[in-house]
Amino acid sequence: MRYDVIVVGGGHNGLVAAAYLARAGRSVLVLERLPHPGGAAVSASPFPGVRLSRYSYLVSLLPDRIVADLGLRLDLRSRPVASYTPYERDGRFGGLLVEREPGPATEASFHELTGSHAEYTRWCDFYAEVDGLAKALAPTLLGPLPSRARLRDRVGDRTWSRFFEQPLGDIVTEAFTDDLVRGVVATDGLIGTFTSLFDGGLAANRCFLYHVIGNGTGEWRVPVGGMGAVTAELLRAAREAGAEVLTDAEVVRVDADGVRAEVEYRHGDAEHVVGAGHVLANVAPAVLDRLRGRESAAPVGAQLKVNVLLDRLPRLRSGADPRVAFAGTFHLDESLEELESAFWTAAAGALPRRPPGETYCHTLTDPSIVDGDRHTLTLFGLHLPTALFTEDNRGVCGELVDRFAEGFDRHLAEPLLDCVARDADGAPCVEARTPLDIEADLAMPGGNIFHGDLSWPYGEDWGDGAEWGVETDTANLLVCGSGARRGGGVSGIGGHNAAMAVLAG
Ligand SMILES: Cc1cc2nc3c(=O)[nH]c(=O)nc-3n(C[C@H](O)[C@H](O)[C@H](O)COP(=O)(O)OP(=O)(O)OC[C@H]3O[C@@H](n4cnc5c(N)ncnc54)[C@H](O)[C@@H]3O)c2cc1C
Repeated sequence: MRYDVIVVGGGHNGLVAAAYLARAGRSVLVLERLPHPGGAAVSASPFPGVRLSRYSYLVSLLPDRIVADLGLRLDLRSRPVASYTPYERDGRFGGLLVEREPGPATEASFHELTGSHAEYTRWCDFYAEVDGLAKALAPTLLGPLPSRARLRDRVGDRTWSRFFEQPLGDIVTEAFTDDLVRGVVATDGLIGTFTSLFDGGLAANRCFLYHVIGNGTGEWRVPVGGMGAVTAELLRAAREAGAEVLTDAEVVRVDADGVRAEVEYRHGDAEHVVGAGHVLANVAPAVLDRLRGRESAAPVGAQLKVNVLLDRLPRLRSGADPRVAFAGTFHLDESLEELESAFWTAAAGALPRRPPGETYCHTLTDPSIVDGDRHTLTLFGLHLPTALFTEDNRGVCGELVDRFAEGFDRHLAEPLLDCVARDADGAPCVEARTPLDIEADLAMPGGNIFHGDLSWPYGEDWGDGAEWGVETDTANLLVCGSGARRGGGVSGIGGHNAAMAVLAG
């Protein structure tokens, strides 16, 4: 049996690649080890009457062009609120509100926190610059990799030297005066990325970039029906175009010599070998290495994902309406100082006393994922690297869930646990996944949600436009997932670019 292209892994990126290639007339086989496709972009029912986004939950990086090209019927809904950050200052409880379109309520909230209008003005100036950056970068993501020099020209020297050359911690320290405001901005640089904000390697800058440029706006939208709805549409697009998608099919070997390729996989009790012109690896680069019989180190994952079902939203000490506070990203213990302190504590091998994290309530924007009028809360905890969990994964996970609950309770007028729904046995409806769990569930090495550190969205100056950022050392073996350059997050960009590289070849 032989296909033009075999895609190893049926994550959302693998489905995007398969859909484009099948539409272009190529024979395509997608092999997925799990009983269902989607990878980290799936919905699940950990509690009765709920179908929630189990891992990834918000969409920003999926280009509208991919949605249009593949005819995806998706409803990506805007949240009215960008973020709410509760705080206690001088014994007074408050919250910094940032609307999606900042207006008088946002300005008043900055004034209440800082005592003047200056920080709000700085916020507007900063995000006007970020908006320019997004408008410059977003249109390049679906084309061949631009050189550093060409991208720098598009971005402009001033913005380039700030965001591409200076640590994010320095940028926010210069741009803002309030520690809480600095942290709210910087947190976009730490999603799934374990680093100090002041580290000269600039991993936080790269993570920040991908969090603010999606579709030229950086807006994070809620997939109506949950993340499973995105994968369902991609699966439909791939199959309708003629791609074969086989689940429960674990690939155990990949061989490619530049012209021909062979893939071995297990399906049921049998082993199969299938030939191809090209192999596209939707799996992480470290997994691909293993499948090629090569050694490589696993990257570090550093987050805790907690899904909670609530009977009701908790009331806040600040008096803010919880339907506003939880509608956007609710930042917990994420001031700049707290972020740095948590990083250095975790880097030294200890659990942060107050782990930073961010939460949002899906059901305030899209109630379709629960029966009745209950709510979901999704927490993404930061700076919790794999090494913290290796001795006692479940014990450490439970301890962290308690610490996050304490973090909420400092800002709530009633204990969070009182609002959490119970299952038939009376147990709280709380599901937590550590980096080790993510690795076991999804074969993401180290539990790293991007398959490894994110890369800059440019290539070498000598190679302007020559590559797609998906190439390996073998011509007919390409990376089509999150590990591709520009591939991280739910974006389909890695899949699109690998498909284009095949079609261009
Ligand atoms: C907890 C969490 C929260 C996140 N939140 C967000 C978010 O809100 N927004 C966002 O944009 N991004 C988020 N991300 C990141 C995003 O989900 C990923 O970057 C993205 O889904 C990766 O997609 P992918 O298709 O490249 O790879 P994956 O989703 O990793 O898919 C790879 C597929 O390959 C399969 N596979 C692995 N090994 C084999 C094998 N040997 N044989 C066959 N198949 C194999 C896997 O089972 C998997 O289905 C989050 C990730 C996690 C884990």
